[in-house]
Amino acid sequence: MSSFVKEIASSTLDVILPRTCPGCSVKLLPTEKILCVDCLNDLTPAHESNITEEFTKHFEETKLITGLFSMFLFEKGEAIQKLLFSIKYERRFSSAFYMGELLGEALLQYRAEWEYDLILPVPLHKVRLIERGFNQANYIAKGISSIVGVKSSKDILYRKRYTDTQTKKDKEERKKNVQDAFKIKSAIEIENKNILLVDDVITTGSTINAAAGVLKLHGASSVFAASIALA
Ligand SMILES: [Zn+2]
Repeated sequence: MSSFVKEIASSTLDVILPRTCPGCSVKLLPTEKILCVDCLNDLTPAHESNITEEFTKHFEETKLITGLFSMFLFEKGEAIQKLLFSIKYERRFSSAFYMGELLGEALLQYRAEWEYDLILPVPLHKVRLIERGFNQANYIAKGISSIVGVKSSKDILYRKRYTDTQTKKDKEERKKNVQDAFKIKSAIEIENKNILLVDDVITTGSTINAAAGVLKLHGASSVFAASIALA
């Protein structure tokens, strides 16, 4: 089944089967898009101070990204983790897209000064993509694109090495793991461009730094980074 057909099938199922809240498993009301109202209210917003702290910690020294934005703080065991997990592993395409729309609106509101010509999702390796069926970051990027009116593309930046799952690695191991992990398919599309890199969660920043490094090496003028959550 092509990914397009899978996508249609999945969104049709969303309509036929009763939708449940990934945060607490209650049945969602028609007005509740992805989380129930209670879980939605439980999400902890990422304040500017959180974002600045994260930027200082992981991005100031490398100077590879110009700006950072994130909507929520990632909390283990909480609704945000369950939501991102359900997006990733239960293939909730429409939730990923919707979170992207929210992120797009937040970017217009809180990062109106950012000027970018292209939105790129942090890619998954081909093997991982086949395993999982879709790249959640791509749907988040599409959601942002639909709001801010800037093109997104999943075909420019790709992962050349298969990297093991990051969750059980420490910071140094993660860094090594992602170094040299990215490649550019056609440099001409990013030359002198300002790029918005998008991922679901930004944890140590090593993935974003590695991807931004490759983009800049191939002529990108500046790179901004945005995510649903900050870990
Ligand atoms: Zn809930």
